[in-house]
Amino acid sequence: MPLQLYNSLSRRVEPFQPVDPQRIAVYACGPTVYSHVHIGNWSLVTVADVLVRWLRESGHTVVYVQNITDVEDKIIRDSRAAGEDLETFTTRWASTYLEGMDQLGNTAQVDHFPRATGHIDGMAAMIQTLLDKGHAYLAEDGSIYYRVASFEHYGELANIKREDLLAGASGRIKADEYDKEEVGDFALWKGHVEEDGDVFWEPSFTIDGTARVVKGRPGWHIECSVMASEILGSRIDIHLGGEDLLFPHHQNEIAQSEAALDVRPWVTTWMHHKHLLVDSSKMSKSKGTFYTLKDLFDRYGEGIGAAFRYLIVSGHYRKSLDFNFTGLEAADRTLRNLREARVRLAVHAGDAAPSGFAAEADVRFVAAMDDDLNSPEALAAVHELRGEADRALKDGSLGAGDAAAALALFDKADRVFGLFLAPEERALTSEQQALVDARAAARANQAWAESDRLRDELAAEGILVKDGKDGQTITFA
Ligand SMILES: [Zn+2]
Repeated sequence: MPLQLYNSLSRRVEPFQPVDPQRIAVYACGPTVYSHVHIGNWSLVTVADVLVRWLRESGHTVVYVQNITDVEDKIIRDSRAAGEDLETFTTRWASTYLEGMDQLGNTAQVDHFPRATGHIDGMAAMIQTLLDKGHAYLAEDGSIYYRVASFEHYGELANIKREDLLAGASGRIKADEYDKEEVGDFALWKGHVEEDGDVFWEPSFTIDGTARVVKGRPGWHIECSVMASEILGSRIDIHLGGEDLLFPHHQNEIAQSEAALDVRPWVTTWMHHKHLLVDSSKMSKSKGTFYTLKDLFDRYGEGIGAAFRYLIVSGHYRKSLDFNFTGLEAADRTLRNLREARVRLAVHAGDAAPSGFAAEADVRFVAAMDDDLNSPEALAAVHELRGEADRALKDGSLGAGDAAAALALFDKADRVFGLFLAPEERALTSEQQALVDARAAARANQAWAESDRLRDELAAEGILVKDGKDGQTITFA
């Protein structure tokens, strides 16, 4: 069965059909860098990471872009409060973010981390196109707005009618919105105001045939449309974000991009991640349930990153995950059990032909992931296999080839979910080296019992010794 994904645009699960199967374009809305991002954001980028890992595991070539928003209202407010210029402030917070990406194993899949301030010229160019086509206008407050009435499909992603938007908003129009033609119109370019300080650019736009320098800064929505299309081209296969971004952010991205680029649909598949809850309710700073990655690391150490990933993928991305520390600790124990089971399989694995022992579990794993990334079902296949393998190891019926096949599924799950199951190549401690040398000596002396004992002792530490005609070789379980 080919990959099926739930598409927020069609509101159903449908076969995934990339524009160019040779190159799948994926874009995820990244962080606004002005403080530590919360674990809900980390959950979203982990889901995006797993999606890309699965596409690549399935043999696709993927270009994956995750942007960094480094100019925006809150950034300007907080950088000024900190007495830092925009670049120093955002560079610091972007590094903190990227460090977290690394710690969670989320960096390797990302091909581009564009920053909004690196694409200002492209934003001005797209805004000019929208002005030329009648989709945008310069208002008296010095900002350029998108004319929502000019885009007939406005609201389709969120399943909202324009008239409803107007009706719903009539009671809450703020004074500063009277400059807009219609309440739903949104800023493409925000005219400079005093609170922006020295954060501004001065592009020249041609408006009604006249060149006008409009001092200001980009709106948030145009940033994503431009970063996505400048790097990925005019069609995007999969665009991800948290469910809170669906409206208005993603709807506005569609309005801008389809109108400016003359494409429809701009994005084939929209994927939205359901909010993470903490202790069954919305994360809240006042209740002390607003957690960042730093909070988890401070409490448990960096090793907890893998357990956090496990917790995320143990639920489905379209269902709210209820985070709590008991669940995180349980995930950590489960992961430890999987690692130990993997060591047992690695010790037992050999070149013999498999009997098909792990074949069913593998089919189940693949089918689950192809079914709208049903990661809990895929993990269930791995756990069931673990149980069967342990029973077969106990009664001596597990062949070396079957152990190798089971190990291969563990390693596939590791590649797809990034669970850090397999330890990386590492240097031996001097004690471990002494055991390795002692074993080589025991074999040379034909002291087989001693040699086997040393082999088992090393295996217990995840160091596997295999014998070949050139002597023993070391691998890590
Ligand atoms: Zn975005």
